Amino acid sequence: MENERSFQGDARRRRVRRLKRMIVLTALMWMILPVGLSIVLFGKVRALNGQLVETQGYLQRMEEAIARQEQAAGEEPPPEQLSRKEVIVTAPVAGADGQSEDVSAVEPEAAHKVYLTFDDGPSKYTEEILDILDIYDVKATFFVLGKENEYSIEMLKEIAERGHTVGMHSYSHKYADVYRSVDDFSADFYKIYSYILENTGIQSICYRFPGGSSNTISDIDMHVFADFLAEHEIEFYDWNVSSGDGGSVLLDVDTLVQNSTRDIARHETSIILMHDAASRSTTVEALPQIIESILAMEDTVILPITEDTTPVHHIH
Ligand code: ZN
Repeated sequence: MENERSFQGDARRRRVRRLKRMIVLTALMWMILPVGLSIVLFGKVRALNGQLVETQGYLQRMEEAIARQEQAAGEEPPPEQLSRKEVIVTAPVAGADGQSEDVSAVEPEAAHKVYLTFDDGPSKYTEEILDILDIYDVKATFFVLGKENEYSIEMLKEIAERGHTVGMHSYSHKYADVYRSVDDFSADFYKIYSYILENTGIQSICYRFPGGSSNTISDIDMHVFADFLAEHEIEFYDWNVSSGDGGSVLLDVDTLVQNSTRDIARHETSIILMHDAASRSTTVEALPQIIESILAMEDTVILPITEDTTPVHHIH
């Protein structure tokens, strides 16, 4: 009996001890778990905080960059916006007898719209070309290159100030460089875009590919570069009328006039390719006749390229 009782007492004590251990263990579990979780969460918060600081820094840098850009462009954008609108409003007057009352229309209604475009400038002929255009009160489009000398910059400003459209024709005009890769094309694009912006305050909206979009020099499919421009909301313009002044032979005035005017009556939109280049003296000589014969055509207006101009593309 004695033994039995003591055995039972031992068993109870063991049970109590076991129970105590379980209680202690459970209590410990409940203490350790939250602490462990807290440590993990604390680590996470720290990591997120780090990311937040990084993001804030990035945002700040972006804001600063935007502010700098706006400041750089800021002095001039109103004239730019104005000049573009001015172009639209004043251009219709040119040669459109009685057609120009409709100021509300962005581009005047006419059966035939003609766009004179000059590639490769500025050149020693720029001023003469501008004077001729002024005489006839006609606005044109100059697809310029990145020429950094003082004279060229002065001419570039002159083109803009006299209300013509300033388009991009690449910075370097070196086919091998411009078309080497998308990166090269993009770098050249930003150079000519900034060159125009810095010197005229104009954010150019149009581009003419060196050699046109149908050139056979680029190894890369021209659609790739066309897509790049589209992504940047830049329209590219080829031509459907060529004066022929881009060839190796210097054409005479009569031929240039013929080439430039022959097919206008067939097109709703005629984009005429000409060159503002030092080697193209006959283009300047032919220009007054070209303009006069276009102005004499029925229901035909000469306009600068704007964002409302129907583009002509060699590739589709
Ligand atoms: Zn060219």
